[in-house]
Amino acid sequence: QIGDSRAALIPRYVRINTTLWTIQEAIQHFISKGFELADVFEVSSPSKQVFAKDEHISALLLFNSEVSFQDDDAYKAGKIILQDKASCFPAVVLDPPVSPSGAVIDATAAPGNKTSHLSALMQNAGTLFAFERDRKRFSTLKTMLSNAKCQNVEPVNADFLTVNPMDIKYSKVTHILLDPSCSGSGIINRLDYLVESEQEAESVQEERLHKLASFQLMMVKHAMKFPAVHRIVYSTCSVHAIEDEHVVRAALKTEEALSRHFTLAPQSQVLPQWKRRGCPNEMDDPGHAASLVRCLPGEDATNGFFVSCFVRKTSEQEHSA
Ligand code: SAM
Repeated sequence: QIGDSRAALIPRYVRINTTLWTIQEAIQHFISKGFELADVFEVSSPSKQVFAKDEHISALLLFNSEVSFQDDDAYKAGKIILQDKASCFPAVVLDPPVSPSGAVIDATAAPGNKTSHLSALMQNAGTLFAFERDRKRFSTLKTMLSNAKCQNVEPVNADFLTVNPMDIKYSKVTHILLDPSCSGSGIINRLDYLVESEQEAESVQEERLHKLASFQLMMVKHAMKFPAVHRIVYSTCSVHAIEDEHVVRAALKTEEALSRHFTLAPQSQVLPQWKRRGCPNEMDDPGHAASLVRCLPGEDATNGFFVSCFVRKTSEQEHSA
């Protein structure tokens, strides 16, 4: 799929690392480099000099897909992160706490785009535990976190499934991001996203997908075991319902979800302005599809992506209900 013409329809997305830079500072920087800020970005024919603010994600800018930032000082300094728009959705939907006592887990963190996004949304406060089981990718993660100056992150080179949810260390974790390995079938320009998708996209056979789905379900079930967790975002860069809606519908029926009252967050909490939602015919309850977000490659100016969000009533809410 390398060189797919649909890739040209994906703008160059630039996420401003708000830990180091304000949106205004970033805009001024690009204007000083000769770019012109436009109100609307025409994906099919943008000038190479024009850029715009994204309509769904604050701190995300759109440029012509041919513009390169690899040599830009801001990129080298970790002030901007080159990250597809859809890949910015999970951290925004997780809506992590901004508090010195906040505790969040990124269960599958490398290379670290979403970890650094979460860290910025937490305003570098509280603690963000970032697990990565692969040693090499863990090293990439650490480089990324250091470059982006993420000071509230505790990276851990471990398999999330071996982490004990009852460990006192994680007793205050309220939010978990799960962006596990998937088939990567939504990725259009694999040259750009080889690292993120782990080169798994070629295997689209049913058996492979079912194997991935059972691993993904295990991860969701494990996340649900953390005692204080009440918000879990599960995302993939796959367009296959087996890894997306089917994992969500199976997760809702598990002992973990039923005993701890996990349900899907309403559409109003999951990028309500984003039009493309989950597939109703892939869910047990078609009404649940509105809670899910999908991105279709070639149609949404992003890579293919899927986002879901499980929420649980806290005991406080249960008592006041
Ligand atoms: N969220 C990342 C980002 O935005 O940069 C991308 C994550 S990538 C899709 C999935 C990552 O999870 C891979 O680096 C993989 O090695 C890691 N992983 C897979 N299974 C894991 C597990 N059980 N525990 C921890 N990490 C795991």
